[in-house]
Amino acid sequence: MQIWWDDRARALGLRDGQALADELGLKRYRVGQLYHAAVKELAGEIDAITVLPQTLRDELHARAFPFDTVAPNVVQRSSDAQTTKGLFALRDGQEIEAVLMEHHGDRNTVCVSSQAGCAFACAFCATGQAGFSRHLSSSEIFDQARYFARTLAAQGRKVTNVVFMGMGEPFHNYDAVLGAVALLNDPKGFGLGHRHITISTVGVVPMIDRFAGEGLQVNLAISLHAPTDEQRGAIMPVNKRWAIGELMGACARYVEQTGRKIFFEYLMLAGVNDRVEDARELARLMAGRLYHVNLIPYNSTPDAEFQGSEGAIVDAFQRVLTAAGVPSTIRHPMGRDIAAACGQLRAQTQPRAGASV
Ligand code: SAH
Repeated sequence: MQIWWDDRARALGLRDGQALADELGLKRYRVGQLYHAAVKELAGEIDAITVLPQTLRDELHARAFPFDTVAPNVVQRSSDAQTTKGLFALRDGQEIEAVLMEHHGDRNTVCVSSQAGCAFACAFCATGQAGFSRHLSSSEIFDQARYFARTLAAQGRKVTNVVFMGMGEPFHNYDAVLGAVALLNDPKGFGLGHRHITISTVGVVPMIDRFAGEGLQVNLAISLHAPTDEQRGAIMPVNKRWAIGELMGACARYVEQTGRKIFFEYLMLAGVNDRVEDARELARLMAGRLYHVNLIPYNSTPDAEFQGSEGAIVDAFQRVLTAAGVPSTIRHPMGRDIAAACGQLRAQTQPRAGASV
């Protein structure tokens, strides 16, 4: 609750939640009521919180209290109705994306953004190509999940999983991301179990070590995407900072320390990383550890420099992994018709920096 309240105070230009409570003359239990209404009852607006006196509701309005830190600008639903993508405005006008994926009614996964833009510039990623704008606060991350929780609640359903796979690099905004995890997890609040949360990183080695020490049951995914430094460096500039050897070293330490599995994401890019030889190299990196590979069909970005691999190539690639004893899953692409991959929707509304329009 503290994080939620502090973030709101800071959005109003105050030092922390205590300063805001003092200014409003609020007792702690009132803050508790606001928090409860927001994260448990999933109230849509301050006026719906009838347990608060009208005078207080008026005062919160008068101060433009940020009950919600994200506002949906565009919401698109895929033709099969399984993927819903939202483009959200932050209070300073920045735009971010979040996606709800409904897996046949039994799992409802929200993919959240941790930053407006991204500093890592992966060649295949629409967000990376557009550059970095700013970090999000814990509440700005959390409120993306809250938005979809509210829309699901109207049908008596819940958010069952949250993945940090939207715009931005979670480990480049470590404290706010862990704060968002705390808000998602709060047993007195949103109440989502750690095991239902996944953080995906481009491979920020020092933060993988730090994360290993947190003692959280949160899942970790690594965007590997290529098995050699030469190939990875060509599509992911981060590899020049932390090469594959260093990255795999941190992953081994993580598994050793936590006993938890790591998921490796591997985008299948035609002619770039999808040869049988690449699968063999990948199998070597994965050998003998608690690792799982997710083979991801590539979603073409607007100025598509890359093509996704053919289905038969993906199958052949997986067969090499399986023969080597490496567990893997071919991910089912979702929401292609609504530009659901990282940064794609925003890229349609905001031309990338430097692009001629
Ligand atoms: N920065 C983090 C999380 C954000 S991206 C990371 O790198 O893991 C989440 C995943 O989507 C990453 O694996 C990313 O490489 C992948 N991705 C980016 N663009 C994509 C595209 N056009 N199609 C499919 N996956 C994409």
